[in-house]
Order: sequence, then structure tokens, then C-alpha cells
Amino acid sequence: MKRIAVLTSGGDAPGMNAAIRAVVRTANYHHIEVYGVERGYEGLIEGDLKMMSRRSVSDTIQRGGTILKTARSEAFTTYDGRRKAAEALSDRGVEGLVVIGGDGSLRGANDLYREFGVKVIGLPGTIDNDLGYTDRTIGFDTAVNTAISAINCLRDTMSSHERVVVVQVMGRRSGEIALHAGLAGGAEVILVPEKPVDYDEVASILNRGKAVGKTSGIVVLAEGAAPLEETMKELSERTGLSLKSTVLGYIQRGGSPTMADRVLASRLGVRAVELLKENKGGLAVGVKNGAVVALPIGEALAIKPFFDEELYEQAKILSL
Ligand code: ADP
Repeated sequence: MKRIAVLTSGGDAPGMNAAIRAVVRTANYHHIEVYGVERGYEGLIEGDLKMMSRRSVSDTIQRGGTILKTARSEAFTTYDGRRKAAEALSDRGVEGLVVIGGDGSLRGANDLYREFGVKVIGLPGTIDNDLGYTDRTIGFDTAVNTAISAINCLRDTMSSHERVVVVQVMGRRSGEIALHAGLAGGAEVILVPEKPVDYDEVASILNRGKAVGKTSGIVVLAEGAAPLEETMKELSERTGLSLKSTVLGYIQRGGSPTMADRVLASRLGVRAVELLKENKGGLAVGVKNGAVVALPIGEALAIKPFFDEELYEQAKILSL
């Protein structure tokens, strides 16, 4: 393979730049030309491709967001849109494509491979950690650490005022961020979509905390577990506590990536190019039990996200 392209798609995630950098530099090392596609599939359909050099990714490994920008593309969800995308690549003699994005982006990548034979390699770029084929997605570790920092700040002020705060964290349909940030932040309660929300139980945990002298309480609520307003209303009705709420929102998507995300993104980016060099395509690259793995995208996406029941139970024990 002499020429490849790389794009980021869907929600941005810290570490996407480290992945782009790894793709560009590994390709350069193997004397493969690389085009950067701006604004994901939208830019690909419009033929928005620029040649990238080793130097074009200098000073990017530590930056959050994505230097290639990202987008959601309605057009790409149609056959006609994907045909245009495939043509934009073939017009420039591009033989392989690295797609960095979440579940939706990888589904799109698989369509492009199956329908038009584009040699696509998918990398898991999402803060949600909701892809079952990989232990970790690029961006998850940073997002969790950002949430933990926020929880630390909230603990200070909640202790001073003897209050309970419900902190809503991201994750779409996944409770991964909530579980890990909740455990590491010492939350009293963690509410995740993978488990039924029992307000009576939550209220009794918070009331008991007050009775045993706890001066603050933190409830970490995954956005997919229950609406924040509902949680506030139900808990207010069941406790006599002073309840506050905070939505962490987009701050979880930004920031300088952690070591774990930079290393993960770099390893996966290198492997993606090595696979393209071997003329392979239609594969999703991830990490399982510490080792980099590659499997057919369709197969990878059929694996249900893993929810660590044991960790969830341990978090419960430790929060008492
Ligand atoms: P993420 O990749 O973070 O999950 P989205 O689900 O929004 O984000 O997907 C990003 C883009 O991928 C969409 O805007 C669309 O262009 C494309 N896409 C998503 N789902 C599909 C699908 N089932 N088939 C083809 N393309 C898809």
C-alpha cells in the first residue's frame, strides 16, 4: 500500500491526536503517504483531504480534541453518501483508511469496507468505553480522571456545607465512567444503566450516612441510568438532606490525555498502519488482556460491552 488516509468521527475523545500522530508517523516510517481527512465522514464525502507530514503532527500528543476535527454525517448513513466517500478515496489513489471513532463510526467503516471494498481499519475513539471487543477505548481514562478531579472539588465544598451532591457523568448507555469515577472518587452511591435504580435504597444509604456522622455525600449518576431531575425529585422526597446537583458535561471530553490514553492510542495507531501495510482491511483494532488485537469489525461490534459486576459490588462495599 502506497497511500492511506486517516479521519476522526463522532464524539471527540482525548487521545485521538495521539492516534493520528501514530498513524502518520508509522506510515511515514514505512514510506506510505498519508492524507488527513477533515470533519470525519462529512469531509470525506466532500473530498476534504490534505497530505500530512511527520511534522504536521508535532506538538499534538498532549492535546485533547482532534486536529482533524470531527463531525456527524447524515449523508454517510446513505448508500449514495458512502459511494461518494469511496470515490473521494479512489480518485486520489488512496488504498487504505484508518477511522478513529465510536460504535457508530465503526459501523460506518464496516459498511464502507463491505460495500466498496475500501480497506478500512477502525480504532476505538470514545470516552464511553462501550465497545465490548476492547478492554479500553481511547479517551476513557482521561474522561474518568477529569470526573474524579471534579468529584474531589465537590467533596471539599459538600463537606463544608454538609450537603449531598448528585453528579451526572457522561457515558451514553454505559455506566463505565460512573463506575470507575465513582469508585475512585469515593462516592457513596453509583447509579448506572446496567443496574436498576432503586431510590429507596439510595435514600436509605444517604440517610444512614448522615446518621453515622458523614458530613457529605456524593451520588454519581451515569447519564443513561436515570434523568437527573427525576433523581433529584425522588431523593428529595425520600431524604431530609440538602441536595445539590452538578452536570459535568463536556468538560469530560476535553483536556490533555493521560499517559494511559496516549500509550493506548499510539499502540493502536501503529498496529493500524502495520495491518494496512499487509494489505488487510475490515478490521477493528483494540486491546484485550494487555495485548493489541484485530478482528473483523462486524464481529467486534457484535461483542456486548463488558460490565464489571465484581467491581460494582466492591464499590458498594467500600462506600459504606
Ligand atoms: P460515535 O462514532 O461516537 O458512536 P455516531 O454514532 O454519531 O458517533 O457516529 C458517527 C457517524 O458515523 C455518524 O454521523 C454517521 O455518519 C456514521 N454512522 C453511524 N452509524 C452508522 C451506521 N449504522 N451505518 C453507517 N454509518 C453510520
